[in-house]
Amino acid sequence: MKLERKVFGKHVVHCHMCKTPSLREVIHLGMQPHSDDFLSDLRREEVEFFFPLRLCTCTECGLLQIDYLVNPKILYQQNYIYESSITERGVNHYYQMAKEIAERFSFDPGKLSVDIGSNVGVLLTGFKKQGFTVLGVDPAETVAEKARLNGVPTLTEFFKRTIAKQIAADHGLAHVITGTNVFAHLHDIDSAVEGMKELLAQEGVIVIEAPYALDLIKNIEYDTVYHQHIGYLSVRPMQRYFEKFGLELFDVSHHSIHGGTLRYYVGHVGSHVVESTVKDAITKEIDFGLYKQDRLKEFSQAVMQQKRDLITLLNELKADNKRIVAVSAPAKGNTLLNYCGMGVHYLEYATEKSSLKQGLFTPGMHIPIYDDSRVLDDMPDYVLILAWNFAEEIMSNLDEYRARGGKFIIPIPTPRVIE
Ligand SMILES: [Zn+2]
Repeated sequence: MKLERKVFGKHVVHCHMCKTPSLREVIHLGMQPHSDDFLSDLRREEVEFFFPLRLCTCTECGLLQIDYLVNPKILYQQNYIYESSITERGVNHYYQMAKEIAERFSFDPGKLSVDIGSNVGVLLTGFKKQGFTVLGVDPAETVAEKARLNGVPTLTEFFKRTIAKQIAADHGLAHVITGTNVFAHLHDIDSAVEGMKELLAQEGVIVIEAPYALDLIKNIEYDTVYHQHIGYLSVRPMQRYFEKFGLELFDVSHHSIHGGTLRYYVGHVGSHVVESTVKDAITKEIDFGLYKQDRLKEFSQAVMQQKRDLITLLNELKADNKRIVAVSAPAKGNTLLNYCGMGVHYLEYATEKSSLKQGLFTPGMHIPIYDDSRVLDDMPDYVLILAWNFAEEIMSNLDEYRARGGKFIIPIPTPRVIE
């Protein structure tokens, strides 16, 4: 990170979506580094930057969000190494998503499908298989280059109105516009939605997928809070937000991936039948207490308890001279590690399947990252699964470790040991 970059971020008081100054703190997760900024050996000797990470709720529209926005140039243009193609389950989910959309809307072959935050192009590969013409948009050059090598044309840009106009002029209108795990990341969200509206064909569909705020609160998934995620989406604020732009949320569906994901279907007003799922989901959110201060306070107390429980468990194991490492080093793992203060005194090292992260150190806690195979060579007593949303897949990949007596710790929703 260059010191001459003066604008590191900004504290905001207005809601990311409804723009009213009605943010109220749910939980402060302390000062945290950029969770995707894995460090090289040389860089970990340099100054590291930490930013406040505070989850708030909007008392007006109910959107959960953070109130310190790190400069997107810091978040997305340096060492950005999140790869969406990393797990088999993830790939299957996106191929299935493309298939479902293609079958449901039966657009003519060759129609344009645009993916915002297209990463290495997994979802668009799915749409290509369904006969669509595809175009990705992603600001990170490293992943965009990989996508192009995978046969997915990709613009290296932040999606906004001007880019949407350029795409419409160069390629025509899009029948499908998707954004998976990206909508909540958009800093200039109004411009992005205006752009989606202009780029969308009259009968076209915008499909957004994001972790569901109700699951986050219910399952104490506080580690999904990090600076790339500005908003934590739920149906009530989303419906209201799209209405403002003359767009209509017409269906939602729930999926189990990433600890609970909601898929939002949006179109031009009157272009699609509005399903009862939208109203039902909002009723469920209200009944759950998602927009009530008392329920959110219960959540913040559960987060603090979970931290105490995890530290107690690891302290007991260390007192017993057990060796513990972490498998998988996702961005969210860093929220947990930094919030709980878990450095190398607890976790000797972490391992990753992605070669891009191997040889680097986790931001903040500076835990070294090695190849997954090290776990079998080394046989530590316990492995902490930071990517708990892929726990089953990770444990099945480590069958042999388990057969030889290795044990797993899954931290979320409450820390538990699996033998
Ligand atoms: Zn709001």
